[in-house]
Amino acid sequence: MGTDLDRDYFISRCGAHAFYTPLKIGLSSLPAWQKAVHQERFSINRWIQTYLECTTYEISCPSLRDPALAPEGKTGLIVRTLMDYDLVRQILEEGRYEAFKQLSIDTITQVLNSTIFPGLRDKILYSICSTPVTIERETGNTQGAITGWSFINHPIPSVDQIKKISQSVLTPMDDIYQCRQWTFSPSGLPISILTGKLAADAAMKKLNRTHL
Ligand SMILES: Cc1cc2nc3c(=O)[nH]c(=O)nc-3n(C[C@H](O)[C@H](O)[C@H](O)COP(=O)(O)OP(=O)(O)OC[C@H]3O[C@@H](n4cnc5c(N)ncnc54)[C@H](O)[C@@H]3O)c2cc1C
Repeated sequence: MGTDLDRDYFISRCGAHAFYTPLKIGLSSLPAWQKAVHQERFSINRWIQTYLECTTYEISCPSLRDPALAPEGKTGLIVRTLMDYDLVRQILEEGRYEAFKQLSIDTITQVLNSTIFPGLRDKILYSICSTPVTIERETGNTQGAITGWSFINHPIPSVDQIKKISQSVLTPMDDIYQCRQWTFSPSGLPISILTGKLAADAAMKKLNRTHL
């Protein structure tokens, strides 16, 4: 969200990074969406609204760390929550994706406006919504996974012990090394960078040895 609010507004309310749960009743109070989806359209929309009222949000304001990231007097907000890929995929296939994104924007705005950010709604300059389907399209990650292998894999199909991380860059082929988020579990940006460095080091070592 781009907002016409000064960074001072957000400093006291959430700071540069915060987790916020608007209601304490918990997501387990909701039935599975698969039960609501086969009813009238209103039911699944109501389910999505209730989910967005009860879920936990991760809120980041990058310009609170670096004011150069937003124009004077304005602040950008990244508001994130988890969402089931299968639900979004089904909505996409039914041709209701744009309406779903607008419903999500409207509900999230309403939730934040009536709780942690009073007056936010009138100050929003624009909102962009991305979903698990967006992440899948942009990154190729299965089901829009935000990072690496699912923890429900037994065994995890990569090196998963930190002591053995140097082995994560090896492949069955002698002269090919690998890196990035799929090469070690659990992953994330630090692991992607670290495995990149380990792979580069391994390649350099091999090249130097070959030259000798
Ligand atoms: C919303 C979100 C929040 C996150 N938060 C955190 C966090 O707080 N901390 C953290 O450590 N990690 C976080 N992550 C995870 C982190 O972003 C990833 O683990 C990391 O970016 C993975 O780096 P990567 O280089 O392996 O893959 P990516 O950054 O996904 O890069 C892969 C690239 O390959 C391209 N590509 C895919 N398929 C092809 C193809 N066939 N041909 C050519 N190009 C292709 C994609 O377009 C993409 O540019 C988050 C991820 C998301 C989505």
